Amino acid sequence: MRVATGRVGHAYLLHGRTGLLEAANAYAKALNCLNGGEVACGTCLSCRVFDSGNHPDTFYVSATKTVAIGVENVRDQVVAEMATRPFRYQYKVFIIEKAETMTPAAQNALLKTIEEPAPYGVFLLLTKELELMLETVRSRCVMIKVDESGQPNAPDEAQLALAQEVIQTAHTLDILGVLMLYKKFEPLKENRESAVAFLDMLYEHYGTVVRQTQAEYAFRATRAITQTKDLLAQNGNFQLTIEIMLLKIGAYIQ
Ligand SMILES: [Zn+2]
Repeated sequence: MRVATGRVGHAYLLHGRTGLLEAANAYAKALNCLNGGEVACGTCLSCRVFDSGNHPDTFYVSATKTVAIGVENVRDQVVAEMATRPFRYQYKVFIIEKAETMTPAAQNALLKTIEEPAPYGVFLLLTKELELMLETVRSRCVMIKVDESGQPNAPDEAQLALAQEVIQTAHTLDILGVLMLYKKFEPLKENRESAVAFLDMLYEHYGTVVRQTQAEYAFRATRAITQTKDLLAQNGNFQLTIEIMLLKIGAYIQ
């Protein structure tokens, strides 16, 4: 997982079976590392304070009264905290374990904060039960699958940003907008493997929407993505294939 640069949202949803907290901690530590690399240096003041377990700008959001993380927990531990700048370092990092236990009201309160982000706020939502997260929260987070080794298995930032753009805009753009969106796919043209990985990422998103809500637009998207993968496997024309996919996701063609 790379350090957020502002090109993509500052909310991440880490999902997988194991290693979620380790991955989130590594990311939180790297974000505020004074040496600013993709991996925490381990020796600067911020890193050392982090290792001591008392980092002033890292917050672990948890339930207080019940097993579920309630709206008051989000208000007290996130919303109120976001009102002020970091104490000492660049980012305030909020780590929310078992994010799926957030009540819908809690998820909605968090959503408002994610949608009006202060430049210093970074949210790391952790869940083993992705399907229990509200779709509105998921669509505003960069999805990071953490694999068995506990290593985040992250696509590059440009791909993540593009996936978010497709998910958020493809079914609202006009036809010209859809065709313009293709231009951003150009970097994938010469690398079919990363193109397929990108399509899988998109599919995962829409597939989950279908499972959760049976929404027609998402069903249409999964079908279009599957057809696109088939066509690319048959060496179909890349631009045409992608444009058709986007037009199908946008419901301009069947
Ligand atoms: Zn450091």
